[in-house]
Amino acid sequence: MKYGEIDFETYFKNYPNKDGYFGKYGGSYIPDDLKAAMNEITEAYFTICKSSKFISELRRIRKEFQGRPTPISYLERLSSKVGNVQLYVKREDLNHTGAHKLNHCMGEALLAKYMGKKKIIAETGAGQHGVALATAAAYFGLECDIYMGAVDIKKQAPNVARMKILGANVVEVTDGLQTLKEAVDAAFAAYLKEYKDCIYCIGSVVGPHPFPMMVRDFQSVVGIEAREQFIDMTGGLPDAVVACVGGGSNSMGLFSGFLNDPVEIYGVEPLGRGSKLGDHAASLTYGSEGVMHGFNSIMLKDENGDPAPVYSVASGLDYPSSGPEHAFLRDIGRVKYDVVDDEETIDAFFTLSRLEGIIPAIESSHAVAYAMKLAKKMDTGSILINLSGRGDKDMDYIIEKYGIR
Ligand SMILES: *Cc1c(COP(=O)(O)O)cnc(C)c1O
Repeated sequence: MKYGEIDFETYFKNYPNKDGYFGKYGGSYIPDDLKAAMNEITEAYFTICKSSKFISELRRIRKEFQGRPTPISYLERLSSKVGNVQLYVKREDLNHTGAHKLNHCMGEALLAKYMGKKKIIAETGAGQHGVALATAAAYFGLECDIYMGAVDIKKQAPNVARMKILGANVVEVTDGLQTLKEAVDAAFAAYLKEYKDCIYCIGSVVGPHPFPMMVRDFQSVVGIEAREQFIDMTGGLPDAVVACVGGGSNSMGLFSGFLNDPVEIYGVEPLGRGSKLGDHAASLTYGSEGVMHGFNSIMLKDENGDPAPVYSVASGLDYPSSGPEHAFLRDIGRVKYDVVDDEETIDAFFTLSRLEGIIPAIESSHAVAYAMKLAKKMDTGSILINLSGRGDKDMDYIIEKYGIR
């Protein structure tokens, strides 16, 4: 399918290009010695991850350990509540550890093993990426250092406990504001010292090349499965697919399966408390071009051009940028990006729980909220939503802040 200049028939061969660019977005804006380490990962990715041995081992792990394929569920009661449109969810909440993140963590850790590395390292904010990576490290018998700001360590005690139980080393970062940004800096600094023995595992389709490509490719299992399952279930394609966008990995996973189809694609960003800078994390909706964390994309900036403070009720979505491929797909118009706020999200959280017996992650509730609004606008048809994770992790917070509705 052609979209302006872009032919989606051959899209994955050409995007990103060999330097990691999706149009003008992406690339690798990092110090030279780090570039050498990233080049090693890129080369290994193209030789190892495309080999039939790697592919069949990853396929076996996905089936036997992760519980893939995850099903698609038809939301009968929610569909009839919102009108005439049929709503479906891809159940990444049923993936082992309760979210889509394990899809790329198992791929990254398997690559580390094939490269002969002893250790994997990463940063984490809310702790979801840290838990998924610690799980992968335990499975493969790799050491695992997770860098985390001291403030986040206090806030995310259950995830810190999970990482420690899984055998990961949680490294407390006490610089600056002691949150995600400082954790990223500390993890990169450690990686520069240790890159001979370890690889850095980024938690979304962000960061320098090759991570936006590699994480997308590992997550594409979501879209490949979903497309086939949806056709099996209904005899055709959905009219629209919807996913929440933080860094953009669960959404790129789903979207990649439908880019070459006559399907409307919607990425949903968190509007938080409102459209004022600092009250949301809707980078593709309100941001502008800029470089941060080693890549060029659309980002939210403060008056000095630095990453702006962001807010969302979903800690997995509060990142001041999104992956370069999203910026590209936005510019060419293939994917539409829109927002829902905290209130609509919490409403969707309870509605899906009550009507369908599925408690969604607050991140995923953004996609559900948007699909409910979209369904009211569409007369007929079907929408497939990516349910990126389960909401068990969010229950205490929601009950404390919003009560039972
Ligand atoms: C981390 C997370 C997200 C956001 O990350 P993306 O890279 O945008 O997918 C969404 N949903 C869940 C459940 C998460 O844990």
